[in-house]
Amino acid sequence: MVILVLILPFVVIGVVAIFFIAFLTDRHHFTEKFDYQITKPVISPAIESWAKRKANEKMERREKKEKLELQARLEREELFKQKILAQQKVEDEHMNCYRQLRKEIEATPQYKHWRQGVLDKYGKKCILCGSGEKIEVDHRYQSFYAIIKRFGITNIVEAYECEALWDINNGAPLCRSHHELTKSHINNIKNAYKT
Ligand SMILES: [Zn+2]
Repeated sequence: MVILVLILPFVVIGVVAIFFIAFLTDRHHFTEKFDYQITKPVISPAIESWAKRKANEKMERREKKEKLELQARLEREELFKQKILAQQKVEDEHMNCYRQLRKEIEATPQYKHWRQGVLDKYGKKCILCGSGEKIEVDHRYQSFYAIIKRFGITNIVEAYECEALWDINNGAPLCRSHHELTKSHINNIKNAYKT
């Protein structure tokens, strides 16, 4: 009896020590199991697969919608691009026709006569700086383009018949730098084109 009483504390300490060592060596597994039980409530596989399927369906619907939206956007952008290109082509053709007609008009004796008339009126010097270098004749109030557009001139014959085109009061001599500075010819082309 006395021996049993003496041995018992050692037995108890031994058992506790064995459990403690077992806990330490298997602690990771122990905590993982514990966490799983806390964060993941037990759900049936049927419900879990149903939820997964629903989530997939939702994702597929969203992806399909996004794809359609992207496709529609690309189509809109392409249409816009085509429209701009077509517009640009019309503008280019229009300007090419205009340039060609202007070249033809400027080569006529009537145009040379008009140019000479302007120079005779003002003298062959720039009306802004008085320079006699590189004199050009500017269309002063109505640009060449504006006249062509306003009177719907499409050929040389119509140009000959247009009085506004040969009005000496609409011309003025400018040196090249002042002519470029006014940019009236370019701005008028742009403005007349917009109307
Ligand atoms: Zn000048």
